[in-house]
Amino acid sequence: MNFLTQDIKFLHGVGPRKAALFNNELSIFSVDDLLRHYPFRYVDRSRFYKLSEITGDMPYIQVKGRILQFKKIGTQRKQRLIAIFSDGENKIELVWFQGIRFIVNKYKVGVEYVVFGKPSLFKGRFNILHPEIETPEQLPPPEKMGFQPVYHTTEKMKRGFLNSKAIQKIIFPVIKKLEAGVPDTLPVYILQRYKLMNLTESLINIHFPKDSKALSRARQRLKFEELFYIQLNILFQTNWRDKRFKGFIFKKVGNYFNTFFNDYLPFELTNAQKKVIKEIRADTKSGKQMNRLLQGDVGSGKTLVALMVMLLALDNDFQACLMAPTEILANQHYETLMSFLGKMNINISLLTGSTKKKDREIIHNQLQSGENQIIVGTHALIEDTVQFKNLGLVIIDEQHRFGVVQRAKLWAKNTQPPHVLVMTATPIPRTLAMTLYGDLSVSVIDELPPGRKPVQTYHYYETKRNALLGFIAKQINEGRQVYVVYPLIQESEKLDFRHLEEGYEFMKQVFPNFKISMVHGKMKPAEKNEQMQKFVTGETQLMVATTVIEVGVDVPNASVMVIESAERFGLSQLHQLRGRVGRGAKQSYCILLTGVKLSTDSRKRMEIMTRTNDGFEISEADLKLRGPGDLEGTQQSGIPFELKIADLAKDGQMLEFARNTALDILEKDPELQESENQILRLQLRKMRTNVINWGIIS
Ligand code: ADP
Ligand code: MG
Repeated sequence: MNFLTQDIKFLHGVGPRKAALFNNELSIFSVDDLLRHYPFRYVDRSRFYKLSEITGDMPYIQVKGRILQFKKIGTQRKQRLIAIFSDGENKIELVWFQGIRFIVNKYKVGVEYVVFGKPSLFKGRFNILHPEIETPEQLPPPEKMGFQPVYHTTEKMKRGFLNSKAIQKIIFPVIKKLEAGVPDTLPVYILQRYKLMNLTESLINIHFPKDSKALSRARQRLKFEELFYIQLNILFQTNWRDKRFKGFIFKKVGNYFNTFFNDYLPFELTNAQKKVIKEIRADTKSGKQMNRLLQGDVGSGKTLVALMVMLLALDNDFQACLMAPTEILANQHYETLMSFLGKMNINISLLTGSTKKKDREIIHNQLQSGENQIIVGTHALIEDTVQFKNLGLVIIDEQHRFGVVQRAKLWAKNTQPPHVLVMTATPIPRTLAMTLYGDLSVSVIDELPPGRKPVQTYHYYETKRNALLGFIAKQINEGRQVYVVYPLIQESEKLDFRHLEEGYEFMKQVFPNFKISMVHGKMKPAEKNEQMQKFVTGETQLMVATTVIEVGVDVPNASVMVIESAERFGLSQLHQLRGRVGRGAKQSYCILLTGVKLSTDSRKRMEIMTRTNDGFEISEADLKLRGPGDLEGTQQSGIPFELKIADLAKDGQMLEFARNTALDILEKDPELQESENQILRLQLRKMRTNVINWGIIS
């Protein structure tokens, strides 16, 4: 049926100019695109109100009545038009600031009109600002009007006379045409099995709902469809990938692993660590290539898991690499590995941007000859000059810092792709993980090593900073160390930088006896390292910094994290920062300093932070507050992340259901060969022309 694929410019009331607006502003080209531009809300025009019913807080309403009189008020330059409007019993003022001449010419005193708008209270009386006015004959009867759709538009579109109302007028006749029926995009057996509304009905009712029940069924169907196809696409490609690529087999647990476990592991593994290592072990001997996401809160011991899995690779004559997003973190990983494995005669190297050219050449050669067994590094590892003899395992720490493309490059470093483990301390809400990383298996470390005391978190207003200084001094005098973190947000970078420097000067004045490090993103790496190193070794007691210290840095002696202007940080960032303390045996504290005036959202964030240490709870809350588009990781994921109707914060159950349905179908018909599944194939092909093929490059 070509109607759906038709260019919108041929629709009644569109034409080339408006079509261009649709194209450029909303990527709407075909009739089908237009129909998938769902209303974002509806207004109730299902009945007429009486003016006596108007109360303080009302939505948009409609009233039937007559204009008794027009009045112009004010000077020529600042004029306003008032119409006294009566429903026969009471009166209300309709007010315009613009288009006055047009209104006076168009509407007549004494004629019956339907007025539509939002009543507001002004100087003790109700009025309606810039109402919509129509004659009752222009409108279908209220019981037919029901819910009116409101469409998202842009400023440019509005200037080109494409406001919500105009879009509604364009869509209305299209919907009429639909009544003849359009081919469904879901197979009949799915519609029947789950009693879903068919596509024709759903499109009609999403735009012009018959009643609230029909609207809700239409929404259900369209949400399901959206989530289902995302899942089917991911899972279909994962299947394809598994078939196409074999995985290296790590057959045995050998000397390296056992020696470390028996002789050098300084503590008991937590049960969660044991469980995760078992899961990875199973993957790496399955013959399939592993693509696993390891989630574990800050301090849960992911690095140790990484280390042991690398030993497993070594036991099977493979090389392993561990990549971190920053040089500081790469250094720290290197040190950690050296301290754990130093006595085991393993060739471990560090490769970062600041590795000297001569050393770099040596490392390159050793990687190629296979002499080097474990390499730790930053982006430097991705470069084409880095070639391995036999890379079997890639571990990526804090993966949300890396783009998909960068990860794909590591993939290509062996003839057969290595096993991949990505680790993150930013817990990803389940729904988001299923969508963003739906092709990865997920392991979770949900337990902290024993003896840790949960960080105590307090919210202070800036007015109480002095009390805080006393507390800082006390902690440092007891031998602890303290972080003070300032926000650094692009738009106001200069200003923030000043805050940081002022903070540093202030601390120097207040604490002349303490030594202070300062770190920020604009520093040269060498200088940054030096400042960090001083704090790590305990030479400095205070660390004044921007969020560059957010990731991974491990100073167990640091017991206080002060976050300045905490209201300017997102939840997951606050949680990450808090994770820098509480790593030793001593009680640790996180102090959130904010201004006195807080938005509702900021207040909620502070409340959540002081209430819980649970990273998953925090990430769920973050998703609800901010929506998925803003969460860390989604931008870099390379996945176009605009859901049209489903909401990952609210539709978790539906998503689960959609995923299970997709799994079910693929289990019975992995290649989607059955005739009843041809619709699915067709839809996947359509999707793929729009979406880059990220499924194979986790
Ligand atoms: P993550 O990378 O998950 O934030 P780390 O691997 O840096 O956490 O571990 C945090 C600290 O806990 C490190 O000092 C590490 O040596 C220690 N650690 C890891 N596992 C255990 C364990 N099972 N028991 C005690 N301490 C542990
Ligand atoms: Mg870590």
